[in-house]
Amino acid sequence: MPVGTLASVKGVPQDILEELGVQILLGNTYHLYLRPGVEQVRKLGGLHRFMAWPRAILTDSGGFQVFSLNELRKVTEEGVTFRSHLDGSSHFFRSESAMEAQIGLGADIIMAFDECTEYPADRARIQSSMELTLRWAERSKKHFEEHKHEVPWATEVTTQPDATQALFGIVQGGMDHTLRKESAERTIKIGFPGYAIGGLSVGEPRALTREVVESTLEHLPADQPRYLMGVGTPEEIVEYAGLGVDMMDCVLPTRAARHGLLFTSEGKISIKQARYAGDSGPLDPNCGCRVCQRYSRAYLRHLYASNEVLAQILNTVHNLSFYLDTMRAVRHSIKLGEAARFPSVVWSQPKP
Ligand SMILES: [Zn+2]
Repeated sequence: MPVGTLASVKGVPQDILEELGVQILLGNTYHLYLRPGVEQVRKLGGLHRFMAWPRAILTDSGGFQVFSLNELRKVTEEGVTFRSHLDGSSHFFRSESAMEAQIGLGADIIMAFDECTEYPADRARIQSSMELTLRWAERSKKHFEEHKHEVPWATEVTTQPDATQALFGIVQGGMDHTLRKESAERTIKIGFPGYAIGGLSVGEPRALTREVVESTLEHLPADQPRYLMGVGTPEEIVEYAGLGVDMMDCVLPTRAARHGLLFTSEGKISIKQARYAGDSGPLDPNCGCRVCQRYSRAYLRHLYASNEVLAQILNTVHNLSFYLDTMRAVRHSIKLGEAARFPSVVWSQPKP
């Protein structure tokens, strides 16, 4: 899932996202709640209509963003008080308000409110944080069940009168395998149509991320979507898909693109380097995207060096295309039943 924080994948129009084959986008509740505001989006018919995006959308609960504010927040049993990064104004998010905001935005998949446990943390801290997330998960589900028909498009979906959003639960438990297992089992007991693995990519070593993902997946139903939040590099998304992860989101392809870091079939390229100034070849000779079909590395390097807006747009289009191609190859392998032939992605080695 490409990340469209503020109802926009930075620099890329929706028709191009469609052309790239994006099936689902992620929007950030925290950011949309602050600007333009949930009520505004709801009045305009919900996120799909507001941003003219007919395909699927997932919104996060706002929890992760709020927790990354550090100094600006205070957590209690009831919820989180935080200060807006925009104007310093004070806000309060609880399970119920996170649900209300996400129902108002009207994404297809919404997330339970959770506490993202910091890393490192001792066992007692991880356990109490996990218990809080479980209580918030129950409250999230209760509120959602009572208000799910208030979604802005409820009356429009005439062909499926019972159509509503899907609320996913989030597994926490830090880097502790037994707590991850307990969190998974008790979240499943509350009952959700899909489950996310949260609390990773919070500064832990990559080998540990993999270990926790693998051990958590064992305890989540394979016949329901399993969503790993906030990963990863092309190499990692292939690896996690191989372990059984169905959904992932990451700002990496879009954020890296804006910094001139491009993923290609021949490795990662920093287009700002002077070595590309006279390179008339395509960015990635094995990529079929509109950027690689049309422009040279020399031109992309020139745009970046000149700080042209077009640089960000073209770089983002290519990186998204590379990620989506990678996942298409993964899906193709799964369809053929040949997980062993998963695409091998070279990204970490700079091009010689
Ligand atoms: Zn390309």
